[in-house]
Amino acid sequence: MKTDTIAAISTAMTNSGIGIIRISGKDAVSIAHPFFVNKRNEKCLESFRSHTIHYGYIIDKDDTYIDEVMVSVMKAPHSYTMEDIVEINCHGGVFIIQKIMDIITAAGARIAEPGEFTKRAFLNGRIDLSKAEAVMDMISSKNEFALKSSMKQLKGSLSELIKKLRDEILYEIAFIESALDDPEHISLEDYPEKLMAKTEEICAGLKKLLDSAHDGKLLKEGIRTVIVGKPNVGKSSFMNILVGEDKAIVTDVAGTTRDILEETVSFGGITLNVTDTAGIRNTADIVEKIGVERAKKAIEDADLIIYMVDASVPMDENDFNIVDMIKDKKVIILLNKSDLNVCVTEEEIKAYFMDNGIIMKTSMTERSGIDYFTKTIKEMFIHGNLSYNDEVYITNMRHKEAIKNAYESMLQVRKSIENCMPEDFYSIDLTSACASLGLITGEEVGEDLVNEIFSKFCMGK
Ligand code: GDP
Repeated sequence: MKTDTIAAISTAMTNSGIGIIRISGKDAVSIAHPFFVNKRNEKCLESFRSHTIHYGYIIDKDDTYIDEVMVSVMKAPHSYTMEDIVEINCHGGVFIIQKIMDIITAAGARIAEPGEFTKRAFLNGRIDLSKAEAVMDMISSKNEFALKSSMKQLKGSLSELIKKLRDEILYEIAFIESALDDPEHISLEDYPEKLMAKTEEICAGLKKLLDSAHDGKLLKEGIRTVIVGKPNVGKSSFMNILVGEDKAIVTDVAGTTRDILEETVSFGGITLNVTDTAGIRNTADIVEKIGVERAKKAIEDADLIIYMVDASVPMDENDFNIVDMIKDKKVIILLNKSDLNVCVTEEEIKAYFMDNGIIMKTSMTERSGIDYFTKTIKEMFIHGNLSYNDEVYITNMRHKEAIKNAYESMLQVRKSIENCMPEDFYSIDLTSACASLGLITGEEVGEDLVNEIFSKFCMGK
């Protein structure tokens, strides 16, 4: 494990009020010491007690004043990384912060890799792998559910559950091994029945976690939704209502084109990642054709299609094209403008869709049908009630995979017991279940995987 001293800019590189540079490692204090003076112009950083914060200035090696700062010192092992940490809170100008960073790296700190502070926290044993991953999940959470579930994971809810299951499995492995080593004193006579009961219990626990992964992923990442409909049917009005009424966060995703806009809409704990296809039309225009191709791709990848129809005018060629593209998908059909004279009926639409279409009347001007729409989404996607305050949800696909493998190994144990196989067969599958669970908390994880996980982190975390 690397033990050199690392430094990184932990705040965003944009002009802002405050910027933070973090230094971690055994030389953190001595590296920063020559470049900090207090208001009496004394170099005193080395004398600071742990967990104290100090007002002063950063100077360069020619004693030129660079910035007015607050510097905090956290001594090992009581810090984020369990190493000595110095944090410099400077002004958040891109030029200032980079200049201070240059001074620190020139004095001997290495620029940290993405996630390296958290990686050290893991390697030094302060947090397990699932907690480290929760840190990144917190940073990227985009709704209440994601934040709450990652906070819970950071506090150890998943680790505890996995540790408990793993300890139970380890106990059985140890018991079998001891009995096989010492058959005179430890009998395995009624053991298969006992192990069967335990196996059932563990399988049920793993299955519950596995089942939570479906909801967990959708809740955390959002439901990939595509909204389709001809121009002028009311798509934008609908988006505005969803966004406005529920104080949703709307973000334009960088890199999207005029043809396809992506927005995130959250309501009642659910997030829709909505792709708005800017009207699908049958067209010879090359640019629009590309748009249509993109829309088709978005439809293919979507979890949900919202098809909006202007019910006040008859369906036309463009509608039929859309219907053709989406008729096999999970679709909510909104018969909009139902406040006007309606000429497209539910029956007419129903004929195009099998059981996969849910039809509802809406009016964006009268704001009717919206509650029913949100209720329907919940019923379609979330099993049972949203109880994200106390349940442990699996939201990380790596964890899901590990739990799935552990579950399969435990089913194998059950099969071996049913088939009256010798005890060492149980041992093999119990051991592999244990190893799979160990991947989640990091007990059984290889260096490559650790590197891969932390490489996805942000700089400075
Ligand atoms: P988009 O092109 O599909 O995004 O459609 P817009 O949301 O821009 O709406 C087009 C026009 O239809 C606007 O003038 C809206 O005010 C109007 N509109 C939208 N929804 C309704 C509705 O439910 N009833 C009525 N009467 N007009 C609507």
